[in-house]
Parts: sequence; structure tokens; C-alpha cells
Amino acid sequence: MHRTSTVIGTLGALLLAAGAYAQAPASEVDAHVAAARAAAGQEYRATFVNLCMPAAPRGGGPGPAAGARAGGPPATPDRANWYASPYKVFDNFYWLGTRQHSSWALRTSAGLIIIDTNFAWATQPEIIDGLTALKLDPRDIKYVILSHAHGDHDQGVAELQRRYGAKVVMGAADWQATLQRPATAAGGVPTRGASDVTVGPEGTKITLGDTTVTVVATPGHTPGTLSYVFPVKDQGKTVMVAYSGGTLTGGFGTDGARWDEYIASQKKIAGVAAEVGAAVLLSNHSEYDGAYTKARLVPLKREPGEEHPFLVGTDGVQRYFTVMAECALASKLRLGAK
Ligand SMILES: [Zn+2]
Repeated sequence: MHRTSTVIGTLGALLLAAGAYAQAPASEVDAHVAAARAAAGQEYRATFVNLCMPAAPRGGGPGPAAGARAGGPPATPDRANWYASPYKVFDNFYWLGTRQHSSWALRTSAGLIIIDTNFAWATQPEIIDGLTALKLDPRDIKYVILSHAHGDHDQGVAELQRRYGAKVVMGAADWQATLQRPATAAGGVPTRGASDVTVGPEGTKITLGDTTVTVVATPGHTPGTLSYVFPVKDQGKTVMVAYSGGTLTGGFGTDGARWDEYIASQKKIAGVAAEVGAAVLLSNHSEYDGAYTKARLVPLKREPGEEHPFLVGTDGVQRYFTVMAECALASKLRLGAK
């Protein structure tokens, strides 16, 4: 039994190595899906399903939905379906999200860094009022770092720039796309002045006071997608965070280069996260990192042995990026992309 399966496995590997198939055999796709499933466990189930299932429920990337999100009038949905209170999640780090999408504030010795901004209709109730409720001053916002130029993460930036003089940090290609938007786009269009930051493929570091955010170019979800690692304090102890800037791969189709770019980006940010020992994994969607649920657990009493709700450990961080890369490998093969 054992010997038979070994022989079959070896044969299969030989055939693959010889490039005997125009399209990958189902078994190779299955192997990547299985690797992703194993890495996902229970905690990254939604990321696994959205990325690995062939009929993903929603598209990502530059599909028509993204275009509609970037433009059009800012219709405010019913607050009862999205409003969430702000929470302090680490000593110097705050969650300002709706139930679906996250914005974050990183407090430094020289002001605030906002990470992602949500839809325009959430800017006042979630970011500005959220900071005030947490006894922080929105006028201290010095930087807004945007993971990518889709409306569910960037519509608020123009208002924060206009009202508080915040410097905007964005990937080069996503700046390009943003500056082409009509002035009537929801939330308005940020301007790019000399003090704003355009991030190229080499990435950058944003230092404000005592805190540095390492910005890693992770093209894929959009051409200018950025991911980050940065330190936060948990009861005085430094904990490193890895932030995944863009998730979905809908719309990549048979564009092999796009899949390869996305896969390489996940390996790159996973490598940087491993280097700094990142033990917290964050995203801009609660669906993927559980932020909406975890944020309200932070102030509750922890039992002996219970960790901070956002601590997933270095292995947990690595497993997240494994899910992304393995699902992309499976999808690329399944679609016959070259
Ligand atoms: Zn997006």
C-alpha cells in the first residue's frame, strides 16, 4: 500500500517535471488547495474560501465593482448595518473600523499614523469621532498610509488630508489611478504634493517620532498594493504586526504574470514578517483578521494562559501568507494561466 502510493507519487512528479501536461492535472491543484486548507485552519477560513474556491463569491482587482466603488455618489448605507464603536487594541494602537472594513490609528511620540480609511461615509463617524471618543486628537494625524486604491479603503483620505494636512502614502501605480479620478468621486481626490509619499517597488520606511512603519510593496491585488510591518506595545512590551494590504484575486484570469506577481508579493511580505518576528496578523477586512470581533475582546479579563486576542504567533502570521500564496498557485494552475 505504502509502496504503491510512493510509486504513483514519483510517476506523477516525473510527468509534471517533464511538462507532460498543457494544463496542470487536478492533483497538483488539489495539492495547493490542501496546503492552503491546512495553513488556514479555522482562523483563516474566510481567506481560504474566498481565495481558493473556484467560484469565488466576489471579484477583486480592477473589476467593474472596483470602478463603481471608486466613483459615483457617496450613498451612506443604513448605520444599523455597519456602525461599530472604536477600540484601543494595544497600548498605542486603535481600531476605527466598521463591522466590515478597518481603519487603524498608530500613536507615536510625534502624532498619529492612520492606516487605511474606509468609505467616505465612515470618515466622520468612525475615524474622526472614533479618535475623539478614544481621547485622541484628529489634528494630530500626520500620515495616512493606504494599502491600495479601492474605495472601501481610500475614500476617506482626501478629507483627512484637507482638514488635518496629513501626508498621504500610497504605491506609485495606485497614486496614478487615484489622480485620474473625477473630482466628483466619493470622498474627493487627494492631491499629491511634495510632502506626500509615492512608494516604488523597493518599499520605504515611514518614521514618525519613536515609531517606524516598514512599507513593503506587494503588488497583486492592485498594481500598487502595500503591506506593512510595524511595532505596537502590549502592556509595555513590543509586539510586531504584519499587515496584509490586499487580498482578492478575482479578475486575474489567465494573466500568468499577474498571478506570479501576487504570489511573489506574499512570499516577500511573509519573509519580512518572519525577519522581524511578527506575531500579529492584520488586514483591512474583518472577514480576514477578525478585527471587529477581537477588538471588543481586548478590554475583557484574560484567563491564565489566554493571549491577547490579536496575537496569533509567528507561525500564525506565516500561515496566513501561505494561504494566500497556495490559493493563488492553485487558481493560476486551474485557470491554465501562463
Ligand atoms: Zn481592494
